Amino acid sequence: GFGSAAPVPKKQEIDFDDIGGQGSAIKELKEALDFIKNQKEIQNLGIRPLKGILMTGPPGTGKTLMARAAASYTDAVFVSASGSDFVEMYAGVGAQRVRKLFKTARETATKQKKRTAIIFIDEIEVLAAKRGSNSSHMEYDQTLNALLVEMDGLKVDDNVRLLIMAATNRVDMMDPALLRPGRFDRQVKVDLPDKLGRLEILKLHTRNKPLAEDVDLSQIAKETFGFSGAHLESLANEAAILAMREGLKQIYYRHFHEAIDKVIMGEKLDRRPNP
Ligand code: ATP
Repeated sequence: GFGSAAPVPKKQEIDFDDIGGQGSAIKELKEALDFIKNQKEIQNLGIRPLKGILMTGPPGTGKTLMARAAASYTDAVFVSASGSDFVEMYAGVGAQRVRKLFKTARETATKQKKRTAIIFIDEIEVLAAKRGSNSSHMEYDQTLNALLVEMDGLKVDDNVRLLIMAATNRVDMMDPALLRPGRFDRQVKVDLPDKLGRLEILKLHTRNKPLAEDVDLSQIAKETFGFSGAHLESLANEAAILAMREGLKQIYYRHFHEAIDKVIMGEKLDRRPNP
């Protein structure tokens, strides 16, 4: 989670180059972002401004990274929140937080003299469940309405242009009102990486790790079917820890091999329901 709906201090800029195995998703996203960059032409041609991009796909595939890279690509400030930040017992609090998030984004951009702000909402399905569905009740509906009102109110000639990026792995649960033109009308699929994608990600996450000669990353990519980027990141880290425990200065193939099992088992443990 991202804690409360507050701007995230820039720890480290993320670029599209830091994201592996998502070539086509990145291409699609860049095409959408180029719209923002060419605002003048867009306006002259009378094209509807792009307000929202929805990234869909399984957890840990890089949706958050994509949003952060989008912010560097468009020289925008990055403000983020999670759907669960808006879930509150008291009526109206969620809606108030939505308005505050948009206000914060505008203010932060103004302060930093940026033209664009990207608001990233992770797990948007939590606040955007279909109205009238089981997972929706009056309070969430107010929150969702507040989001729709904010998005509908965005104009091309605003001082600060806002782009809303949201991520979900449950697009089926989302209220269709959000997917209508002028709202989240672009969808970018961020899927689990294939073998080549996994190789790219493994390369990225071993960039600054000393690998022994016997480490064949393509072989490891082959053995990690079904792993997400987050799994592969943790695999590389686990392998390094195993090497350190043996007092070694390099990471060997067997460390990766052992780490694969650890990641798979860890995943099983994580998925156990809480007692
Ligand atoms: P969630 O839906 O669970 O929030 P997400 O899709 O937003 O997941 P990220 O938070 O972007 O996933 O990824 C978590 C971490 O996993 C990243 O910080 C990074 O270390 C690693 N990672 C995930 N995907 C990739 C990728 N495609 N390339 C490189 N690293 C990745």
